[in-house]
Amino acid sequence: MAKDGEGRQKDTSTRDREKGLRDHEELAARLRAIDGRGYKAYLDIKGAWEFDDFTLHVEHVQGDPYAAPSRVRITLPPDVAALPASAWRTRPRALGTAACLARAFAATARTASSRRGTGRSGTIRMDAPGQQVMLQTAVHVYDDGAVEARFQVGLPARGRRVLGREAVELLTADVPELVRGTLRGPAHEAPVLERHAATNEDAEHLRAALDEQVLVAFVADGALLPRRSGVDDRPLEGTVVPFASPESLRVSVEVPNAGTVTGMGIPRGVTLIVGGGFHGKSTLLRAVEAGVYNHRPGDGREQVVAVADAVKVRAEDGRSVAGVDISPFIDGLPLGVDTHRFGTPNASGSTSQAAGIVEALEAGAGVLLVDEDTSATNFMIRDRRMQALVPKEGEPITPFIDRIRALHEELDVSSVLVLGGSGDYLDVADTVVVMRDYVPDDVTGLARDVAAAHPTGRQSEEARALVRPAPRAPAPGCVDPRRRKKPVSVKVPDTRTLLFGDEEIDLASLEQLVSLEQIRAIGQALVRIAREIDGRATVPELLDRVEAAVEREGLDALDPRRPGDMAAFRRFELAAALNRLRTLRVD
Ligand code: ADP
Ligand code: MG
Repeated sequence: MAKDGEGRQKDTSTRDREKGLRDHEELAARLRAIDGRGYKAYLDIKGAWEFDDFTLHVEHVQGDPYAAPSRVRITLPPDVAALPASAWRTRPRALGTAACLARAFAATARTASSRRGTGRSGTIRMDAPGQQVMLQTAVHVYDDGAVEARFQVGLPARGRRVLGREAVELLTADVPELVRGTLRGPAHEAPVLERHAATNEDAEHLRAALDEQVLVAFVADGALLPRRSGVDDRPLEGTVVPFASPESLRVSVEVPNAGTVTGMGIPRGVTLIVGGGFHGKSTLLRAVEAGVYNHRPGDGREQVVAVADAVKVRAEDGRSVAGVDISPFIDGLPLGVDTHRFGTPNASGSTSQAAGIVEALEAGAGVLLVDEDTSATNFMIRDRRMQALVPKEGEPITPFIDRIRALHEELDVSSVLVLGGSGDYLDVADTVVVMRDYVPDDVTGLARDVAAAHPTGRQSEEARALVRPAPRAPAPGCVDPRRRKKPVSVKVPDTRTLLFGDEEIDLASLEQLVSLEQIRAIGQALVRIAREIDGRATVPELLDRVEAAVEREGLDALDPRRPGDMAAFRRFELAAALNRLRTLRVD
């Protein structure tokens, strides 16, 4: 792999050649030698340095003490990492262990990192995972027990002058102490490591069991679902009612570590979650949404899982839409607007929700998750009275209620809906769960009786058969990562925004996107997609290629600079980012 056109870093073979040549004493000598010189002198320490028990790679040297800190990478061979085999025996175990080590490193770095001069001098920081456990680039545990960690250090300066002695302390004392104190097996109590590995392995098994049991999700008895707040994903403190499945929906699953786990299975088909306001409906649905990911021990949702292709869809007025066939839901808009290739810079509630569903189907969604709180009412339902007042001829919308059965029966796409307001949906449901004081009850039978006793009188407005949308092919040049003179500009200012080239992509409505690290990786994936768009490759094909590359080479496939701040993402969130790029065109 040669230096590519984007001025990226040198390749692995150069690094490996350097490996073994220079040791930490030479590093210390160099740092002392550049003491007092201009900050650029730090470029001298780029490359690999052998320590007694690990290798330190200085990957990128910051331009000045106020810039983003320098990026370093540490590799520990298996005998030094000294993790028990149970910590890396299977891939899910290794991922659980890696998340545990990363959290320990990040937390210790936060409290231990000391200021050693101006700006960010002396700081050490790592992008640790949040509540989720997924492939990430901060810490990697290899399948032979080797450990790699990537983090950032602020190289010390006074003003813009190198503080050599402080740098020696930072790199040859602080960093090794942190590495030995957090990244090695003996630094952790064995049961703690085991819990992280085992919990993650069990979660994988639970998710794998869903297909066999014909379920879309599983919520274990005893799970703690509510979160601290909309911006704090940690478990709610105080009195929390543990989840308890209704008897009729209770299933049991065997997992390798916890043994038999029981809980509520949400079957394939159409499931309604009903109940009074504030009784925990949305909280349950959000736990199911989050169930596409695994969770850390102590999260409360360790044994709550959903199939990997479950996608939350919602109304998102104001978003852009590019050439999406929303005609299954909306047809015959005023002024003859074509909804077979619907595009707008400013979608309404109903058109945005229709587009969201069609885009999810295009990307391969198998389950749709919908909450009335975030849906457009006119998209969800037209009741008898409204049908009488405004005849179908004057109403472009075929509401979701008239498509939900066909989604299941024709396209094998299940739905889980939270609804407190519209009983008309009782006619189309396979399973109805009521939430009462945060406790679910199976009221499917009762719901059938109610539906029979109180016919809605509404007419189905389903016009024609439902088919999967034909995949769109983005037009060459419409996804452009360039900004001013830079060939690639990808920035992630917060968890709601991706700055891509000259464009700002609004991701605030993607509820299944959980971290900045995921958005950074998605940004790089879009760069890759930009290169592959040729007017013929379709959106699902482009998603397949990214997925295959990550499967083959890991997240580094997306960014050869090997940043330590990326995390795995699903094809659905990548597609959603692409679909919200305002320059996207399909001709
Ligand atoms: P709904 O969608 O039915 O109106 P929510 O799911 O929004 O209700 O929940 C209402 C409130 O109850 C939220 O503040 C939530 O954090 C809290 N809550 C939800 N589930 C539980 C639970 N099991 N125990 C304690 N509080 C809960
Ligand atoms: Mg709600």
